[in-house]
Amino acid sequence: MNSSILVIYTGGTIGMVKSENGSYAPFSLESLTSYLPDLKIFGSEVKLLSFEEPLDSSHVGPAEWQQIAKIIIENNEAFGAFVVLHGTDTMAYTSSALGFMLQGLGKTVVLTGSQVPISEQGTDAVDNFMNALKVARDGIATEVCVWFNKMLLRGVACTKVDTASFDGFQSPNQEPLAFLEKEIKYNKNVKFESPSDFEFKTNSRSNVALIPLIPGLESWFNPLSLLESNVQGIVFKVFGSGTVPFKDGDIIFEGLNKLQEKGVIMMAVSQCLKGEVEIGKYEASSVLNNLGVISGKSITTEAAVAKMMVGIANVENAKDYILQNQVGEF
Ligand code: ASP
Repeated sequence: MNSSILVIYTGGTIGMVKSENGSYAPFSLESLTSYLPDLKIFGSEVKLLSFEEPLDSSHVGPAEWQQIAKIIIENNEAFGAFVVLHGTDTMAYTSSALGFMLQGLGKTVVLTGSQVPISEQGTDAVDNFMNALKVARDGIATEVCVWFNKMLLRGVACTKVDTASFDGFQSPNQEPLAFLEKEIKYNKNVKFESPSDFEFKTNSRSNVALIPLIPGLESWFNPLSLLESNVQGIVFKVFGSGTVPFKDGDIIFEGLNKLQEKGVIMMAVSQCLKGEVEIGKYEASSVLNNLGVISGKSITTEAAVAKMMVGIANVENAKDYILQNQVGEF
């Protein structure tokens, strides 16, 4: 087994330093590694590579997902596993996108970051980084995943739940893939992916919108205005298990119906952190069936957005692709 690990540094708090005006800004890989123990003690060969310009993850999007996926695919022969150092703010979007883009890779790709920069006292960066390296070296969790604090989470099932606590990530609808006791213990209930001959989905650019519904949403919300923006897919954040504040035949319904007729793919995810969408459980949700809205079931918002973006950008019948479970996202 190839035990060498490629680390890709994209930016994020983990490597940030305070700038003159007192706000944190991304800094170099060299500065970050100067705070780490000698990686030779680690036993596996570890190679480090940095984005030319490390980014706050609020500036990481489809173009950067493509960049990360391309680096991994190009280095697939040479390395046994990959660690991606990333800002926490959009890490769940990136882990979801990579999960869909690299379906079939059958290797460990583990993203991690930190809430406190590596250069500061009491940082969580060194522990997160070293544990992510251990997960990569173990090569047991052969999928895209996120290491944070004491848990390994499925990349397409996790979400950031705290802006500051070290326990900043959860996968509310799925058990962790592994957790830290004295050592890292892998969850025996989880079946990991084996390599398969999927074609990697290297495109990620498509026009996808995320629209949270609110009480009082009325006719000023004109879904047709979205058509002018060439929207191809919409993820709606609906109430509870799928209810919405519009009815068959009203203005919003008619507008959404037009979008459906134009081929815009629509999916519903819950505003709740936990549980799933069940369209038709209530009368106030069956309207979504009449609009051909796909149930996102227990998918996270981040995975729903990423799946739609990646699906539309790569797959001819994107609606079918989105309907099916691809990589354990629900
Ligand atoms: N703003 C930072 C980022 O996402 C936050 C972090 O890394 O924790 O890049």
